[in-house]
Amino acid sequence: MTLDKNVLWKKIKRALEQELNEYEIASYFNKVEIDNILENSIVLLVPSLFIKDQINKKYQSLLLNLFQIEIPNLTQLDYKIEFKQTPVTENNPYKEKLKEIEEEPIIQKHKALNPKYNFDTFVIGENNKFAAHAAMAIAKNPGKAYNPCLIYGNVGLGKTHLMQAIGNYAFQNFPKCKIMYVTSESFVNDFIISLQNKTQPKFKQKYRSVDILLVDDIHDLQKAQTTQEELFHTYNALHDAHKQIIFTCDRPIAELKNLTERLRSRFEMGLTVDLMPPNYETRVAILQQKFKERNSSIQISNTIIELIAEKVTSNIRDLEGCLTKLIGYGELVNKNITIEIAENQLKNFFAGPPKPKISVDLVQRVIADYFNVTPQDLKSKKRARTYFYPRQIAMYILRDITELSTTEIGLEFGGRDHTTVMHACQKIEAKIKTDQDLGPIIHELIRSIKEKGMKS
Ligand code: ADP
Ligand code: MG
Repeated sequence: MTLDKNVLWKKIKRALEQELNEYEIASYFNKVEIDNILENSIVLLVPSLFIKDQINKKYQSLLLNLFQIEIPNLTQLDYKIEFKQTPVTENNPYKEKLKEIEEEPIIQKHKALNPKYNFDTFVIGENNKFAAHAAMAIAKNPGKAYNPCLIYGNVGLGKTHLMQAIGNYAFQNFPKCKIMYVTSESFVNDFIISLQNKTQPKFKQKYRSVDILLVDDIHDLQKAQTTQEELFHTYNALHDAHKQIIFTCDRPIAELKNLTERLRSRFEMGLTVDLMPPNYETRVAILQQKFKERNSSIQISNTIIELIAEKVTSNIRDLEGCLTKLIGYGELVNKNITIEIAENQLKNFFAGPPKPKISVDLVQRVIADYFNVTPQDLKSKKRARTYFYPRQIAMYILRDITELSTTEIGLEFGGRDHTTVMHACQKIEAKIKTDQDLGPIIHELIRSIKEKGMKS
């Protein structure tokens, strides 16, 4: 019995489609054919050395198994490289050059992705294990594993790194997969420009023609209501077409304000994963990883790495900042880093971010100013609404942003009882729920108090 090459390949390809995703098929198998069927082997015709290497590395045993279902005594797969789609005449002087270019593995850099942000450089700990594994599953099977996916966590905990790792993985492994990375800020800007230049169709086309859309920092979309509408439609178009969408946010979606309900509901569909601050061991591992990446001639001992891991706890960007500072210093003065140098150079990091100094006096002054009364009025026994309303707000804010007890706060308002303070706090809390304007006013007052507290 003779097997028809084309029929056999069609069969194998159909079986491959069951096992692999569409990007893998499009990237590696669309231009493959069977060249020859021999006694114990099959010769595959592949369009480039790169494709041959990739098939060899990743799919060899799968392919062999599939072929063996059809030809049980098959033991080997061979390859022949032929570029069918680029005809070059025999005496073309560029032939060799062209061949070289075609054969060169395409290890390129995606223009919007930082190649340093990949899975190999991402240290996995208890804090990010779930997020990292979900990200890897998505990268291997875009559009299928978890769609959409939302990664949230505080600033500097690796959201951008993880998101770009997905992009970089897909970019390296599925050359046919179109990946778009955009910060929410540039998405907004891009949209505004398209409105100004009347190029909305182009804008739509640009974002809706991708296979993976990565939108970083969606908290920056708050207030940009029209852009939110546009993102909503982009989302629907991509999701309907089973394209992968990933978002990052610096807080849980429920805490976002000024977000249209329908976009909120889209963000909440799919998988949500969070990134927490790393524990001590993970911080040490991250520092070691970052130090290795720097390839510096300067020595930094484990004791110093451990010192940094102990002192800088909440933000990975700051951990890295410490290393940058020490390496910079060491290279500048050409000296290895001692504990004394480290402690001295990293004083600011070890002290933590500067905190505003908030005194009762400051709070009373800011609030009295805002309501056009005096701090004395707040402490007095005056009971008109002009006085007791700002007084209650001052008590509420003090309770909110200081560690003072209700008893201590009462004493600062003309020796009032702690139950009065508790009552004031409850009153204001209830009013915030019914009076839409009050929340923003209190927010603004707190901001102003903290700002003044930084200066004092
Ligand atoms: P975010 O986007 O959450 O603000 P980034 O992704 O920019 O944070 O991360 C800040 C820095 O910390 C980056 O340099 C990133 O490489 C690094 N980083 C974060 N998490 C890890 C991790 N688990 N392993 C290695 N580096 C990390
Ligand atoms: Mg980020």
